[in-house]
Amino acid sequence: MLPQHIAHVFPDTTDTNPAGHLTIGRCDAVELVEEYGTPLYVLDEATLRSKCRQFAGAFASRYANAQAVYASKAYINPALARIFAEEGLGLDVVSGGELAVAMAGEVPLERVYFHGNNKTPAELEEAVAAGIGRVVVDSFHELDLLERICAETGKTQDILVRVSPGIDPHTHAYTTTGIIDSKFGFSIQTGDAEKAVTQAIAAPHLNLQGLHFHLGSPIFELEPYQAATDLVLRFAAGMREQGLYLQEFSPGGGFAIAYTRNDQPPSPDDYAEAIVSTLAATCEELGMEQPSLVIEPGRSIIGPAGVALYRIGAIKEIPGVRTYVSVDGGMGDNIRPALYQASYEVLSANRPAAEPDATVTIAGKYCESGDVLASDILLPTPAAGDVIAIPAAGAYCPSMASNYNLNPRPPIVLVNDGQSRLIRRRESYADMMLCDL
Ligand SMILES: *Cc1c(COP(=O)(O)O)cnc(C)c1O
Repeated sequence: MLPQHIAHVFPDTTDTNPAGHLTIGRCDAVELVEEYGTPLYVLDEATLRSKCRQFAGAFASRYANAQAVYASKAYINPALARIFAEEGLGLDVVSGGELAVAMAGEVPLERVYFHGNNKTPAELEEAVAAGIGRVVVDSFHELDLLERICAETGKTQDILVRVSPGIDPHTHAYTTTGIIDSKFGFSIQTGDAEKAVTQAIAAPHLNLQGLHFHLGSPIFELEPYQAATDLVLRFAAGMREQGLYLQEFSPGGGFAIAYTRNDQPPSPDDYAEAIVSTLAATCEELGMEQPSLVIEPGRSIIGPAGVALYRIGAIKEIPGVRTYVSVDGGMGDNIRPALYQASYEVLSANRPAAEPDATVTIAGKYCESGDVLASDILLPTPAAGDVIAIPAAGAYCPSMASNYNLNPRPPIVLVNDGQSRLIRRRESYADMMLCDL
């Protein structure tokens, strides 16, 4: 049994075994690190698939035409792309690299959406040539560029226009995207959105299917989704005379997860109820046909499925100040604490039931004082060689990993029902020099 106050932060299958070790997907965490080394990212397949079904199901059960599209930037590789395709999800990609992974994972391309505020000409050419489902156009520059690329190749591309509704979802400034001061999207307030829609309708090789917005992430409140949905639908209704027929509507992603014991995010059903009820009510009020609905969860699908395992090395006690417990990973595999003050729980993986009697700060091995994974948390008095587990590490950790200090990026193992499968091996020193001439 896991300590009850943090069980909800770990994957669904997390438990302890008779050896007194943490288990995930019925795999012993200590045995996993003996086999694959540390740092190690463990993904619980049952939690991953269950989150896919919860989100897809919450919307599909309330709305006839709903599609969930996984936001790849939270983390993707070909093995995971296959799982998402099996679960019936599409993919949201933000680069040619993510598109290449979607293709390697044989995700049906009509369900792939291409986002980004500055897609390069080469990326747009690749996407159009591949037959991508939607390009979500983010700027006037892109409208011109995409029309030119399609005209040259004689293709017509389905697009959405990304609008910025000017609504603050009350999350970190670095992860807020839908306010007026943002590099993303066409602002409704400034009139840019109206211009963009008009230009998109007039473009002979672009087929405007609808509108998209994304407010930021993680969003713990429902009200910003409702306010933005209502506002964007009213904007769409106001554009009917200019020729906009809203066939598709996408309120993005940003659904929150529990990182720490005190986090109580809304459930997939809560988000679905809030968005669908607003969508239905506003459509009815405005006399609009209900568009198809596309949601884009990233963090909320893969975040809760992931646990990072590290081994403790040096311990530095500074009397009356702080005890630094250093682990063999850090900001190279999880930059979130350094980038936006993200907080995490920490649990001993070799002694999860032991009394947490020491207040310590978990530091990484990178040459930055800001390389701290968790400040002033409780652990059983740690010793070199202990293994610690950081939950809710599936999203925006491996995907933002770097080779800073030339530490190899960690492997990723998928666990399920007592079996483990490596879906990404640890980088080697040779891998890190592969591109060096
Ligand atoms: C990042 C992003 C998402 C997913 O955000 P999550 O917080 O991971 O759910 C969805 N849509 C767009 C356009 C994004 O940029």
